[in-house]
Amino acid sequence: MGRRPLVAGNWKMNGSRAASKALLAAVRQGIGADVKTEVAVCPPFLYIPLAMEVLMGSPVVWGGQNLDPHTTGAYTGEIAGLMLKDFACTYAIVGHSERRALFSERDAVVAEKYSAAQSAGLIPILCVGETLAEREAGQTEMVVARQLDAVLAKSGVESLVKAVIAYEPVWAIGTGKTATPQQAQDVHAFIRTRLGGLDYTVAAGVRILYGGSVKGSNAGELFDRPDIDGGLIGGASLQAEEFLSIVRAADR
Ligand code: PEP
Repeated sequence: MGRRPLVAGNWKMNGSRAASKALLAAVRQGIGADVKTEVAVCPPFLYIPLAMEVLMGSPVVWGGQNLDPHTTGAYTGEIAGLMLKDFACTYAIVGHSERRALFSERDAVVAEKYSAAQSAGLIPILCVGETLAEREAGQTEMVVARQLDAVLAKSGVESLVKAVIAYEPVWAIGTGKTATPQQAQDVHAFIRTRLGGLDYTVAAGVRILYGGSVKGSNAGELFDRPDIDGGLIGGASLQAEEFLSIVRAADR
């Protein structure tokens, strides 16, 4: 089954109004109308209106980096899925390793957020991945399976028709240490095979992105692997030229 590649930028907590506007404009400018890869950017919440303003009518879509699991109410400081939808977001990242590690998001909360994103009409980009200690202990598959299972238990395997998975080994995020294409492919294949045991068609159709120090120079060899359907890009998504070269690598 042909899966359309997706390259999504996770800007994290970077930028300013001026810098965001310039970056959005440069991305819009650099993406040709004939781009085959789907391209998304996930700016900080406050700059999402700017994304809507600059990117509307272009092939580039946008999303949030997080959302609250509740729909509305007394949750000071939080942003709901419908608010993201109100600003025409397509995607919401859920379960990023920084949120798991720094904001104590457990698997159950991630599952709630995934479900809340879908209820709001957003496509969750579900991040999974092991730490270095877990990899060295031979627990990579166990950890990834546990993270996936929490979501599947709540939303069911069929929910993946409207979701994206991002495999992001924690030891490769922001470290400059990329998983080798084979290391990434092995985990992607593990995820797809595991899902295939539940629903072959869903497993064959779901896009599994790789994330972790992807750059223009290593994107091609990663994206060449059969189960790697694009990338979730942190640091390199903050530089238009670098981000565009990753999109070109996916577009070949
Ligand atoms: C990320 O934050 O999702 C990520 C993959 O970061 P980086 O590309 O900087 O490693």
